[in-house]
Amino acid sequence: MRLNRSSSAALFDRAQKVIPGGVNSPVRAFKAVGGNPLFIKSAKGAYLYDEDGNKYIEMINSWGPMILGHANEMIEEAVRNAIGKSFSFGAPTKAEVEIAELISHMVPSIEKVRMVNSGTEATMSAVRVARGFTGRDKIIKFEGCYHGHGDSFLIAAGSGAVTMGTPDSPGVTEGTAKDTLTAPFNDLAAVETLVAKNKGTIAAIILEPVVGNMGCVLPAQGFLEGLRKLCDQEGILLIFDEVMTGFRLAKGGAQEIFGITPDLTTMGKIIGGGMPVGAYGGRAEIMNYVSPAGPVYQAGTLSGNPIAMAAGKAMLTYLNEHPETYTYLNKITQRIVDGFRHNLESLGLLHTINHVGSMFSLFFTNSDVVNFDSAKTSNTTMFGKYFQKMLEKGIYLAPSQYETLFISTAITEELADKIIAANKEALKEIH
Ligand code: PLP
Repeated sequence: MRLNRSSSAALFDRAQKVIPGGVNSPVRAFKAVGGNPLFIKSAKGAYLYDEDGNKYIEMINSWGPMILGHANEMIEEAVRNAIGKSFSFGAPTKAEVEIAELISHMVPSIEKVRMVNSGTEATMSAVRVARGFTGRDKIIKFEGCYHGHGDSFLIAAGSGAVTMGTPDSPGVTEGTAKDTLTAPFNDLAAVETLVAKNKGTIAAIILEPVVGNMGCVLPAQGFLEGLRKLCDQEGILLIFDEVMTGFRLAKGGAQEIFGITPDLTTMGKIIGGGMPVGAYGGRAEIMNYVSPAGPVYQAGTLSGNPIAMAAGKAMLTYLNEHPETYTYLNKITQRIVDGFRHNLESLGLLHTINHVGSMFSLFFTNSDVVNFDSAKTSNTTMFGKYFQKMLEKGIYLAPSQYETLFISTAITEELADKIIAANKEALKEIH
């Protein structure tokens, strides 16, 4: 069934005249999957509604933050209460202390934390602190990992950067690029070689402990442990970028489920309950380098914004007090993944599904997907067709093969079964 998307199409025409590419973040443009993006009017629970009145079941959830579904009443109430007291003070507030205490309690490796406004700010700042603390310049990142759009990270970057065909962005100077070394994800030997060749010059190794930005890719057995050991031996700081995985895989993030303690952690998405928030934190000894406690400068007019803090605090308080949230998310996501696997197998379609907790990706390939190169063996043309068929059936997926799906608690068993049924039909049609 072809949906009427004329209002979205008209808005996209207008948008392209005044916004580069018609969107404020590239992957939203649907470039990798074809067709016009949907312009969203509202959302509630598990559903998105577009400007043409079409209704979709959500499997992106604003790229992760809406873990309890859209327009959650508890978060709405917290925001409403905060709004009555003005929108921004540019001065310290009680809510900032409370959210810092909460984060430190939920993620014990974080002894001190600084709130910022996005995941990008968090990773840029964490690397600056790592450089200030170690007195070294270089960092190692992994091919296909995305850490926001800071210059140091737009080298072999995943997510929208690879979707747009620009993993190495023009505009990043050679001087900056030379300080970012890259290695394939899950290849400990390659990292050891890089470290040996650049002995004493590496400030930090930064990674997504579970990658979400080349599609979902899990760390191989021993990979995170090996990095931890190498960092300890060489005086390198280990930074877990938990912008996606933080408060999603467990209340203590990926570091809790894999039992590895990083020196610094970056966070975003869920921490703001849907508002623009990021944070970075870690060992007090390192975080005490941040101004005004120490010499590494980092600041923000709207950092710790009271409305954003209210939303984030409500979200984190709920997750802290309701660990059964994760049991449910794991169970419902497993149901969807099992259903998809069954459909793919019964149709004899090549596939790999990578899955952990409430994050998963379906790749159209028969390779194991363990790094960026193997992710790129996936048939992206087929993914584009699959995406469009799912959209026609009212299921909103991430519009790129190199992204992860995020499931919310608003997905009931009945909705999970609808998603599985749509997947079956879509696969049959593209077969
Ligand atoms: N780090 C990771 C792992 C991310 O997935 C993202 C965004 O998707 C970022 C950093 C950047 O966060 P933001 O888009 O809030 O700047």
